[in-house]
Amino acid sequence: MSVRFRNCLIGLLGLIPGPMIVEAAADEKPKNATVSPVPESKEKTAKTARTAKSSSKLPRMLRSDRFWRTKLDPGQYYVTRRKGTEQAFSGMYWNHHEDGIYACIGCGTPLFDSEAKFDSGTGWPSYWQVISRNYLKTHPDLSSGLLRTEVNCRVCDAHLGHVFDDGPRPTGLRYCINSASINFVAREDLKEYIDDWRKAIGLPPLEPEPTAEEKKPETEPSPVEKPVKNESTDAEKNTELRESSANPGR
Ligand SMILES: [Zn+2]
Repeated sequence: MSVRFRNCLIGLLGLIPGPMIVEAAADEKPKNATVSPVPESKEKTAKTARTAKSSSKLPRMLRSDRFWRTKLDPGQYYVTRRKGTEQAFSGMYWNHHEDGIYACIGCGTPLFDSEAKFDSGTGWPSYWQVISRNYLKTHPDLSSGLLRTEVNCRVCDAHLGHVFDDGPRPTGLRYCINSASINFVAREDLKEYIDDWRKAIGLPPLEPEPTAEEKKPETEPSPVEKPVKNESTDAEKNTELRESSANPGR
């Protein structure tokens, strides 16, 4: 992901103290996509807002099974709430190449950037990096008889897919994600999307951006503009996979 976009996304998100990772998602029908998080009743939204203590921490968005059955189509529900796996080469995004981000279908959390998407040949959208590790949680999965590492959305617990350690450089990771669990947002719609997303999951609005006079000179070092060295980050990521066998399939 370019430094320019990375900084842009960090600014828009207004959180994520740690290293940013990337990822993206695509949608053949971006205008009709469920970009903003699932609409909720005003009562529920207010409740979520009250539980959001700070912008540096993502709130959880936990809902009943009935809620998800109502908000998701059968395929999305099967994948995200029943840990299902869509057929290879059948999803909306395995062969999608537009520029943007891929967000959680349940809560709208931005998960992957298109710049970290690659053709894995598996028939599922694959990424070598996630936008922020803060947005995901992983745990061992023995459901298939093989030890794999399941990937879930940290905000709404949606099952997304699995992560393997046979991905390309620089991370060596392959996030193998079901198209039904994500939704594409075009790059030009990112700011509006982030605003909607923050509102829906109960994060406060972002502060207005500083004026040109208030901005620091570009020559001044900025932590987020330092070259991103992935060696240490990759090591951390691969540590997560030590328990996992390098199963190239799903
Ligand atoms: Zn989610």
